[in-house]
Amino acid sequence: MIFEQAARAYLNTGVSRGKDPETKQQILVANLFGFIGYSITFVMTIAAFLRGDNVLAWVLLTASIIFFSSRLILINQRVKNSHRISGSLVTAALMLLMFYLIYSGGVEGTGPLWIYVVPPVAFFFGGLRKGTRNLILFILAVSIVLFLPDDKLLNASYSFEFKSRLLYSFLTVSLLFAFYEYSRRKSYQLSQEISRKFESQARIDLLSNLLNRRGMSDRLYEEYTRSKRHHSNMSLIMCDIDHFKVVNDKYGHHIGDEVITQIAASFKQALRQHDSVARWGGEEYLFLLTETNSHQAQQLAEKLRSRIEHIDFTYSTQRFKVTVSMGVYQMTQHDTIEQGISKADHCLYRAKQQGRNQVIVDDSAQT
Ligand code: GH3
Ligand code: MG
Ligand code: MG
Repeated sequence: MIFEQAARAYLNTGVSRGKDPETKQQILVANLFGFIGYSITFVMTIAAFLRGDNVLAWVLLTASIIFFSSRLILINQRVKNSHRISGSLVTAALMLLMFYLIYSGGVEGTGPLWIYVVPPVAFFFGGLRKGTRNLILFILAVSIVLFLPDDKLLNASYSFEFKSRLLYSFLTVSLLFAFYEYSRRKSYQLSQEISRKFESQARIDLLSNLLNRRGMSDRLYEEYTRSKRHHSNMSLIMCDIDHFKVVNDKYGHHIGDEVITQIAASFKQALRQHDSVARWGGEEYLFLLTETNSHQAQQLAEKLRSRIEHIDFTYSTQRFKVTVSMGVYQMTQHDTIEQGISKADHCLYRAKQQGRNQVIVDDSAQT
């Protein structure tokens, strides 16, 4: 149990700093790889020193240190992009080991067979571009080591056929992994795109195409914190269609829907880019006006009210008119979002009581 917890904590070092699931996964694997890398190479270093194989011992010790430093970087909170650097270090340490295996031949000349581990690791940590670049450099370096005349950089002897097949097969494996990485990237991007699309669709009202309650709540929170920080003005308008029940009863629900949509489009057209309007309820709209005081909000509300009043709605050959009532409220530094909405709502209620088709402003809090 304790062992499991310790292992989990070890592997998750730095994971919380990953921004997306892919980065988190990379950090986790870098921890795992780093651990396996430095512990195995360290044990092998000691064994090599004891055997008196000093060159191997030094190579292994260097690899072990590089593997370990990939861990130190993940621990250090101040290093930016630590997972990238850590991944590069793990890849570099691995490549270094591969060079030594090719150089020395490993056990009875089988050392070079391990190089197939390199492509998946290079792509996993480096992605398609960096992985390809690192692999090309690796292949060039390996070719030089293998094919330099008189085997100057080799301490083992391989036949020409073995060397060339090793290189061909390595190229094939690298290409396959590059293709795999490319497809993986594409499907990851596609899934990101789809989830972004769903995310934004969840904030839009299907009938009116305006923000829905959820979308507006997010906008309100964003703007609320921004206006508090900058001490800027922010006003709300709550709007409701007058006697909408009559429209439904007289012309049918379908025409009612069309009225909601047409009014929404008219509102949207009249707003500045920074302002937002949402379908807050059935036939209710909420406006969020940035950098706007109650006087400016009132002027806009009047303009919007009058726009709606002049629209000719149609039902087969008949024409009919619809009006809206509005409540305007400028938020103060002390209001919560809910309080602001409720005050705008209260003004709307007064507008309804005083005969509808009008705008009521609450400027009690303004000096
Ligand atoms: P008031 O002037 O006091 O606002 O009167 P009203 O008739 O507009 O208000 P009330 O709240 O009594 O009725 C609102 C109606 O709006 C009732 C409901 O059936 C209708 N409604 C709500 N959502 C929709 C919708 O999406 N489509 C249609 N066609 N009607 C809707
Ligand atoms: Mg109404
Ligand atoms: Mg209503």
